Amino acid sequence: MGFDLRPPGSLIEVASRLEDAGFEAWAVGGAVRDHLLGIERGDWDLATNARPDQVVELFRRTVPLGVEHGTVGVLSPDGSLYEVTTFRRDVETDGRHAVVAFAESIDEDLARRDFTINAIAWRERTAELRDPWDGRADLEARILRAVGDPADRFAEDYLRVLRGLRFAGTYELTFDPPTREALEASVPGLDRLSAERVREELVKVLAARHPSHALRLYRDTGALGVWYPEIARHAYDAGWDEALAAIDELNPRDGLLRLCRLLLVIPALRSDEEEIDPGMAAVATVVARLKLSKAEQRRILHLYRHFLPLVSPVDSSAQVREWLSEIGPGTERDLFRMHFAAARAAGAEDSVNALVFMWRRVHGERLSGAPIELADLALNGTDILALGVEPGPLVRLLLDELHARVLEDPDLNTQEALLREARELVDMAGLGQTSKEPEEK
Ligand code: ATP
Ligand code: MG
Repeated sequence: MGFDLRPPGSLIEVASRLEDAGFEAWAVGGAVRDHLLGIERGDWDLATNARPDQVVELFRRTVPLGVEHGTVGVLSPDGSLYEVTTFRRDVETDGRHAVVAFAESIDEDLARRDFTINAIAWRERTAELRDPWDGRADLEARILRAVGDPADRFAEDYLRVLRGLRFAGTYELTFDPPTREALEASVPGLDRLSAERVREELVKVLAARHPSHALRLYRDTGALGVWYPEIARHAYDAGWDEALAAIDELNPRDGLLRLCRLLLVIPALRSDEEEIDPGMAAVATVVARLKLSKAEQRRILHLYRHFLPLVSPVDSSAQVREWLSEIGPGTERDLFRMHFAAARAAGAEDSVNALVFMWRRVHGERLSGAPIELADLALNGTDILALGVEPGPLVRLLLDELHARVLEDPDLNTQEALLREARELVDMAGLGQTSKEPEEK
């Protein structure tokens, strides 16, 4: 046989300790698959016939990662964490959970895995590659095929539908036709999954170099409609391809920004703040359904809301500052990232150049120290009250007016000048208690 996959030395150490104790240690799953594809990665998983308590006993530092599933985390001396899982077989499945029992052989263990390309095992001690489902041939032919009967496999765990779309999309594989057919027929079962598992899958799709392939498969198979009907409704709009192309251009490490770009296929009303924008409402529904953290939900909604209008090259400096104050602190970089991505995706050199120009101005305004936020005003609510204005909404109205004037003319932002402006406004409106002069007859 003789097959060398060149795993990290620390993995070999972990495997050797198991082998020296008389157990089998097989590298399995994603790392084996990716290695065969020429993609190096560090997160190797091991399958073994040692029981979890025996694994725990063999190693100095272990972490109970999922002992009920037979998984023990082993910390190697160099600090890498490897998952060591006892061979398993499914006893009972219901589409979302599985009751598993320990199995005796690697072949049994491989038979319960989802796709042939994920059902390849490699044993360092004997340099043996175990591939009972011909996953290697499928990898070479770039085919995604379920292990065994596809309809049964999806019905055992509907997450495999989403995993299938992810693998086919991110590795650009073609579905084996019966697998594709069963996958599509299983799409309605997706509604039985938990939000956490569905979200985790989406996060992995969005972390791929080019999520567009998998996202297009989500749409074409109908999977998008189950968990993301608000997006699916617009997946054939003109903006869809544009959105996917932009997502591919965004940083894979900022999945949330990519998700935001995807949600932007939902049209926004973008009129005055008072109105309830159905687009905003739909986006809020999606991110809540996915159970994103409150902070993540806020970030997405905020960017969605301020995506447009963007500042434009003909805007004055005052307008740039107004725009910055409108979108709020810490927002412009993300908004520009999304617009840059779209322009790059479209190959629109003029738009990219215009964006570079605008970004310099926006960034320059931000760095200039010119007052932008309400909090930058050299005068606050207490100062307004000291002028004799009754506490209440009027205070805020006055501050907003002064804020607008300062955005227009930053030189106004001294306490002296603003107090003068404020007094004038108060007198003009007859608001101050001290300025209640007898009306002219
Ligand atoms: P990646 O880590 O790149 O997302 P992976 O293939 O390693 O891909 P994991 O979720 O880490 O995916 O799972 C490791 C292995 O466990 C898979 O390769 C597959 O053999 C098996 N596996 C994981 N989830 C399932 C599932 N829902 N059904 C069947 N087998 C699964
Ligand atoms: Mg993995």
